[in-house]
Amino acid sequence: MQSITILGATGSIGVSTLDVLARHPDKYRVHALSAHTRVEELAAQCRACRPARAVVATPEAAARLAGLLDGLDIDIRHGEQALCDIAAEADTVMAAIVGAAGLAPTLAAARAGRKILLANKEALVMSGQLFMDAVREHKATLLPIDSEHNAIFQSLPMAYDRSPGNCGVAKILLTASGGPFRQRAVDTLEHVTPDEACKHPTWSMGRKISVDSATMMNKGLEVIEAHWLFGAPADLIEVVIHPQSVIHSMVSYCDGSVLAQLGNPDMRTPIAHALAYPERIDSGVAQLDITKIGTLQFEQPNFARFPCLALAFEALRAGGTAPALLNAANEVAVQAFLDQRIGFRDIDRVIARVMHENDHGPASSIDAVMAQDERARRAAGAIVASLAR
Ligand code: NAD
Ligand code: MG
Repeated sequence: MQSITILGATGSIGVSTLDVLARHPDKYRVHALSAHTRVEELAAQCRACRPARAVVATPEAAARLAGLLDGLDIDIRHGEQALCDIAAEADTVMAAIVGAAGLAPTLAAARAGRKILLANKEALVMSGQLFMDAVREHKATLLPIDSEHNAIFQSLPMAYDRSPGNCGVAKILLTASGGPFRQRAVDTLEHVTPDEACKHPTWSMGRKISVDSATMMNKGLEVIEAHWLFGAPADLIEVVIHPQSVIHSMVSYCDGSVLAQLGNPDMRTPIAHALAYPERIDSGVAQLDITKIGTLQFEQPNFARFPCLALAFEALRAGGTAPALLNAANEVAVQAFLDQRIGFRDIDRVIARVMHENDHGPASSIDAVMAQDERARRAAGAIVASLAR
């Protein structure tokens, strides 16, 4: 029996993870679940899978959860330290909190040498080398959940040692659906609503990552994520638009071979893959019927339509705390857009200004990264306030 903690259990990835786990009660036991504010949903999950612990954000939320779970033997806690504790306690941790809030508990799992299923790309984007060093030093196992990175992982030989050129790896081809605005007239993007931005053509996801997909910042964050996971410099990572989201990414080799992983766009496939790795288990996802799909299309991304993608490459090339600056500015701008305080195109304007008006330095420690994150949030907040309608 593997014990599992799910950080961000009430989110899109958390719910998909519980779905896969419920298919294999003989293999996995839920140790702990966390949620930020959705206490009723967390209570229902706790009633269904009886974890030893449950963690929420505040003492008020913890009291509410305790009321809902009265009579059940579940230890209820709140706050960041409690998240770090449940991350360090289980054999396996699904890191599925959205945004920078996931960094501390995911790092705690790494420092405890756990098996980490990494969905929370923002944590890795922010802390890059420091996070990878913690994984190595504490002999943690890091398996990518992001569908693209999971596909790349599946398309690399086991002997690959995270250095470019190793095993004949020539290029990483990161596929992107292009999101809901791939073909929309650029001059109409100024006025799109949060609901339009969140209506993804192929994936059903949380609202922050859905907006990131619409701006293609999601792909930008994934380029940085691929850099750290696979040791690939920016020049070896190519973004390819593939609207059907059937090929989840590819690896190109020096002999001309290209290996890809295909499947229906359903996150339960990478979740099941990482849970059982190196074995395979049923995920509940229907087999891909390739004849029904018929056509697969590919095109180059348009950097003028998606300035966020260019900003992410810029942050990766700048290195140090620049990706933390990018990520924090993006989180603030996306939240302001979801709250209808700024327009869709203001998102890339806020990020560009934060990146170009603020210094960044070496990512020498997690404290340096967190300080950069805070400075970027303050700067982005001020720009949002000046734009707010
Ligand atoms: P979501 O918004 O549906 O869920 C987020 C979860 O995090 C919720 O359980 C919420 O309670 C928790 N949370 C939010 N803010 C928090 C905070 N400040 N402190 C503690 N917990 C907090 O998001 P999602 O779509 O499930 O995405 C989760 C992560 O996985 C993101 O980093 C996203 O980029 C990544 N990811 C998601 C998908 C997908 O298909 N949804 C695919 C690839 C990667
Ligand atoms: Mg992805």
